[in-house]
Amino acid sequence: MGAFLALGECMVELSSAGGDLYRRGFAGDTFNTAWYARRLLPADWTVGYGTCVGEDKASQEMLDFMAAEGIETSGIRRVPDATVGLYMISLEENGERSFSYWRGQSAARRMTEDLKWLDGLLKDRDMIHFSGITLAILPPKSREFFCGALARARQRGAIVAFDTNLRPKLWESREAMKAGLTMGARTADIVLPSFDEETELFGDATPEATAERYRKLGADLVAVKQGPGALTVSQREAGLLTVPSVPVTKVVDTTAAGDSFAAGLLSGLAMGLPLEEAAAQAMGLAARVIQAPGALAPSAVAPA
Ligand code: ADP
Repeated sequence: MGAFLALGECMVELSSAGGDLYRRGFAGDTFNTAWYARRLLPADWTVGYGTCVGEDKASQEMLDFMAAEGIETSGIRRVPDATVGLYMISLEENGERSFSYWRGQSAARRMTEDLKWLDGLLKDRDMIHFSGITLAILPPKSREFFCGALARARQRGAIVAFDTNLRPKLWESREAMKAGLTMGARTADIVLPSFDEETELFGDATPEATAERYRKLGADLVAVKQGPGALTVSQREAGLLTVPSVPVTKVVDTTAAGDSFAAGLLSGLAMGLPLEEAAAQAMGLAARVIQAPGALAPSAVAPA
């Protein structure tokens, strides 16, 4: 029995259904993780999502969708005169997908306007998950307040997990992104970076170096992902481990590979699985997710 909470921005997703038709869905990195965690964690765990939405119909439809998927929405703050962000997936002539975003004014950017609300939201959670995107969308000065609230929750005993999820376009500058990711990681017990992004930004020579850098910031556990390559894990007690990936012959859509990976690892650890088993569950889930279209793939988590 326990309580899992993911924090960030869920958006309306419009994906091309051919010609000028678009299908409406809802997705966003930490929301995707909550969605998978809901399917992996036992029924006596609550899985909540923490964000701000507006009071309009689109916001209400998002909340209804979350609730229908078993995700607790009672802590979500409603902001009058604001609405949720939107992105559109268009198909290029060569079959590649291209993404356009309208999220600059979204209600989720206002998560630190009411710190009492934020502290209340984080209270009594066993595991709290956030990402580099969660931080990037906040106004620069708010990021510190946000991490402060997480640090207080951690002090009260919550396990805090951080997926670095680099999105250079969301940050004001490369330096701001480096500083923001470092601050986020300092707040976390578990850090989930991807080696290709880390080596580009921080110049890490090896996945072990990435793990070491985040361990030095105070994380107990760092799992460095490498797409189809092996996972490098560094943990305080276990030391360094390498976990092989699950071979996939036909990748359909890599959207939410990292998000589902986070759900697999965190729910495994929350349920008390040994680290290697939790990591194997994460890699197995991510491998199934990339063989299905879209961010939320029910087939990847269907009961056996
Ligand atoms: P992110 O999406 O966060 O950048 P990765 O692309 O490294 O992260 O992928 C996350 C996880 O998804 C990997 O650790 C791995 O388990 C799985 N994965 C991604 N791509 C593949 C692939 N081609 N084959 C098998 N597993 C994959």
